[in-house]
Amino acid sequence: MKILKDLLFLLLCGMFLCACTKNHEKTYKESRESLHTVVAITVVSDSSDKAKSAIDKAYHELDRLAKLLNFYSEHSEVSEINKNAGNKPVKVSVETFEIIEKALYASENTEGAFDITVGPVVKLWDFKNKVAPDADQIKEKSKIIGYKNILIDKKDSTVFLEKKGMQIDLGGIIKGYAADKAVEVLKSNGIKAGIVAAAGDIRTFGKRHDEGSWNVGIKNPRQKGSVDEIVAVVKLSGQAISTSGDYERFFEKNGIRYHHILDPKTGNPAYGCQSVTIVAKEAAITDAFATGIFVLGPKKGMGVLNKLGIDGIIIDKEGKVYITDGLKGSIELMIKDSTFA
Ligand code: ADP
Ligand code: MG
Repeated sequence: MKILKDLLFLLLCGMFLCACTKNHEKTYKESRESLHTVVAITVVSDSSDKAKSAIDKAYHELDRLAKLLNFYSEHSEVSEINKNAGNKPVKVSVETFEIIEKALYASENTEGAFDITVGPVVKLWDFKNKVAPDADQIKEKSKIIGYKNILIDKKDSTVFLEKKGMQIDLGGIIKGYAADKAVEVLKSNGIKAGIVAAAGDIRTFGKRHDEGSWNVGIKNPRQKGSVDEIVAVVKLSGQAISTSGDYERFFEKNGIRYHHILDPKTGNPAYGCQSVTIVAKEAAITDAFATGIFVLGPKKGMGVLNKLGIDGIIIDKEGKVYITDGLKGSIELMIKDSTFA
């Protein structure tokens, strides 16, 4: 169901472009399941064989990274790191090391609001069966959350979780990171422009064949029906964009919305925002910061974005919209004023 919703979202965002020609160039697109969601790849190319072969290789890269970095698989490198928490450093691949480095960069710049050591608390929440853990369980597991207890050694390419029971979960950054890597694969196979869209984590590169911008829609986080409503369209030329929202994975009980973006300080869902969209060069950064800024809330979140020179749109818990100055020229709002609900 989630996959169908994701696909519908991408369609509504106008990401599936018509395959018209200019200078023999066409737009080719494909959607497949990977990273537990629907990933759409769009490329501009003068040859269908070249496009197809590059797209196949990009999906292969996404599947490879999904396997390597899977929090829930016994055989991933992430699992190897987690199994050795409090015991010994684990030698990891370049990619595992790199994504953890990027995650730590996001932690350091969001006062730890983005923190991949939320793993043990993430596992307590069951959104499918609508089960919230009790406060004692959360309190117990929250004790071992803390990105500062991740020790990395670049020379040896090792990662060590200092405390027993610690677990890293890369769910808040993996889709963006994998989208960046898939773009690298497309580029090295001769593709000069396109999009890799892993649900709400999207990386664009190059120019559309009609020289237009790549347009990505932002959903109304409180839409009533099942058809997606777009509240804004962001025009991109080579950047990445990610949205994190409290409507992606959630359940409601006694009027409270329990969702999957957790405040590492409490182990409970963060309640300052309905959705956060980030625009930057890399999708690993937009993915991690969308999650982290969501947890920080609108005030602190805007402060971080302005300080780092990263662009974003925050829709706070009341539906008030905040937009960074850098984005004002490339965003089209579909709502009359800056508040909707
Ligand atoms: P989505 O996966 O829906 O795109 P996010 O990118 O915001 O959403 O990632 C949410 C996922 O990240 C959660 O399902 C969980 O695995 C993990 N996570 C939850 N809270 C945090 C946090 N504060 N910091 C880092 N990762 C988190
Ligand atoms: Mg994220």
